[in-house]
Amino acid sequence: DSVKSRFITENPVSEALHTSKLQHLPNGNTRTTLHYYPFPVCFKSGSGCFLTSVDGKEYIDFLGEYTAGLFGHSHPVILDALRNALLSGINFGGVNEMEGQLAQKMCETFGLDKVRFTNSATEANIMALAAAKHYTGRKKILVFARGYHGGPLTFAGSSPGLLNIPHEWVVAPYNDISATNDILLSLPPDSVAAILVEPMQGAAGCFLASASFLEYLRKTATDLGAVLIFDEVMTSRLHWGGLQARFKIKPDMTTFGKYLAGGMSFGAFGGKKEIMDIFTTIAHAGTFNNNILSMTGGVAAFKILTPQVLDNMNSLGENLRTGISKVLERVSGKITITGIGSLMSFHFFGKEEGDEEADMIRELFFFYMMVEEGVYFANRGFMALTIVHETVHITRLLQAVERFIQRYGE
Ligand code: PLP
Repeated sequence: DSVKSRFITENPVSEALHTSKLQHLPNGNTRTTLHYYPFPVCFKSGSGCFLTSVDGKEYIDFLGEYTAGLFGHSHPVILDALRNALLSGINFGGVNEMEGQLAQKMCETFGLDKVRFTNSATEANIMALAAAKHYTGRKKILVFARGYHGGPLTFAGSSPGLLNIPHEWVVAPYNDISATNDILLSLPPDSVAAILVEPMQGAAGCFLASASFLEYLRKTATDLGAVLIFDEVMTSRLHWGGLQARFKIKPDMTTFGKYLAGGMSFGAFGGKKEIMDIFTTIAHAGTFNNNILSMTGGVAAFKILTPQVLDNMNSLGENLRTGISKVLERVSGKITITGIGSLMSFHFFGKEEGDEEADMIRELFFFYMMVEEGVYFANRGFMALTIVHETVHITRLLQAVERFIQRYGE
């Protein structure tokens, strides 16, 4: 309670803004995931890997806009490109030069024959599923429990599927070959249009797929004549060419989003020519699909991105996780950290099995304490590093976690 009261007294402007927003926004918010009790810290500005709140406090930003902020805030290359684009007029109601350049980069980097752009990754997944259904003439879509492919395509959280787009979903357990196989065997023949899977489940808490699971899905999709779709919206940053390149498994289609437009709103879906070419005759519309700011942000992003840049960021993440794991050893399993490279998630385990409420309280307590320490990440414990983080920043986080464990570890 004292930590909560400190949180409230230290962030009075955030509280006042939250109270006023409650009048017009459900829960004072337009992104459910950003809300936490009693009110979220409201930010005013960002620079590099730092955020400043309306209450005048500075934070090291370890959330990295849920992976979309890979370049940090206000990266000069991206800012310059966007400024120039703004001065040349935005959104012409016609095709532009940037979309072709970005498409070429996407195809070369991720081994796609063809690609299309959308405004969000949710939309990219919706379009990829529509393409798979049209291409196969089938209806069922195999997805995995706790998977997240966008707001209306979610199999995780407290109300999984409540608002999902109505598809013939078939939900199997992640990383479980024999259970998935049993489920597939129970389906009518020639009914599965697509298998949609995250090579690492992100929103579920950074759980990596096993190579054998993804190999099984690759083989099974081929045997069934279904389209294998990798959702690499979060994971494409974990290796040059995406996790598919690291696993050396090629899906038929891949969906993207987040950082690939330099922080502008973005989604993309692409893959095999024979599937993507259905869009030569079938409409795929969207006023902002080729919007100048996203296309320009994307072209600028590819000026910065190299295998080395990603490797450095992901190695820093490995160092951070190794450091945190060492500190967490002292609380033997009560708090753990999962993930690979630059993406990771804390997990809290109640003393009693299934004590989820107690876990949530501990999670929020830990979060408040980190906010007090001037480090910011998702209230559910998710972190995404950026290319502007350095050892000095991760040292500060390590020290904050260490102080927490010293004080409250028992
Ligand atoms: N797929 C995955 C794996 C994601 O993590 C997300 C967003 O977090 C999405 C899809 C949806 O992306 P967007 O929020 O751009 O619609």
